[in-house]
Amino acid sequence: MLDRIEEIRKDAEQAIRACADPKALDLLRARYLGRGDGMLTEILRGIGTLDAALRPKVGEVAGRAKNEIAALLEEARARLDSRPEAAQAGFDTTLPGRRPALGRRHLLTQITDELVGIFERIGFSLADGPEVETEYHNFDALNTPADHPARDLHDTFYLEEGGLLLRTHTSTVQVRTMEQMPPPVRVISAGRCYRRDTPDATHHFVFHQIEGLWVDKGVTFGDLKGVIIYLAHQLFGEEVQVRFRPHFFPFTEPSAEYDFSCIFCKGEGCRVCKRTGWIEIAGAGMVDPAVFEAVGYDPEAVTGFAFGMGIDRLGMLKYGVDDIRAFLESDLRFIEQF
Ligand SMILES: [Zn+2]
Repeated sequence: MLDRIEEIRKDAEQAIRACADPKALDLLRARYLGRGDGMLTEILRGIGTLDAALRPKVGEVAGRAKNEIAALLEEARARLDSRPEAAQAGFDTTLPGRRPALGRRHLLTQITDELVGIFERIGFSLADGPEVETEYHNFDALNTPADHPARDLHDTFYLEEGGLLLRTHTSTVQVRTMEQMPPPVRVISAGRCYRRDTPDATHHFVFHQIEGLWVDKGVTFGDLKGVIIYLAHQLFGEEVQVRFRPHFFPFTEPSAEYDFSCIFCKGEGCRVCKRTGWIEIAGAGMVDPAVFEAVGYDPEAVTGFAFGMGIDRLGMLKYGVDDIRAFLESDLRFIEQF
């Protein structure tokens, strides 16, 4: 009889320690300690039929086994209750997990960071400004008064609040920077710009510009050319050539557009450069004295140049993206390629 009790105790201990499910634990309690037919319950109930000499010993051993099993059940219950929520609900921890999607920088962000890095290496620092601008910062301070024909070049989104608009270029940041600090100034700014436009493969009403401004005593057009040539070589390699064509912008005088020799055909003529061997990049020029006057700089004391370019356009060129809309459509199939 004592052997039988020890056997039940060992059996119960093993089963309870291995139990990983609250419902199975209830069944184990019933199996060993159940009021009706629990294995130990039956033994305890049968003690009265034993030899009087055996009764005390069997009673003591069976009682101890019962207490031990009860303690093991308590312990197992606490262990199961302290598991994480998901495990209590029957979550199978042996299943392979779902890999969380890894984020990455958008192609436009990568290009912007690359451009910012290129200019920071020659002493430019990054300046920032708001996308909702005043008419003054977007036009007036940039030598483009209300009746100036150049305002027609920009199809502007005006806000209902008087005098506010979505900036049509990042040149607004030049004005804000010069208003805040005396010369010398050497800054770049990058960000979203807005113009009314019907989206197609090469146009969008949201686009991205990066813009540079260098103002100091004795800055010349030669310095501007040096910076643009440096940019071309950093971006596309030493063999890229740069050419400047006269142009007009209200806020620079003289103004120019600059082209890079075609990086695809090395200047021989192809589909991308429309057989010209040159790819139009953007505009630049010497800061107009009227702009210096608007921000309180002395045009007799300092000179400077400004240049800008479309980040979307550079991205299309460098990475062979043939539709500007892809940058803004948030299609993961596109975004994950870069
Ligand atoms: Zn070409």
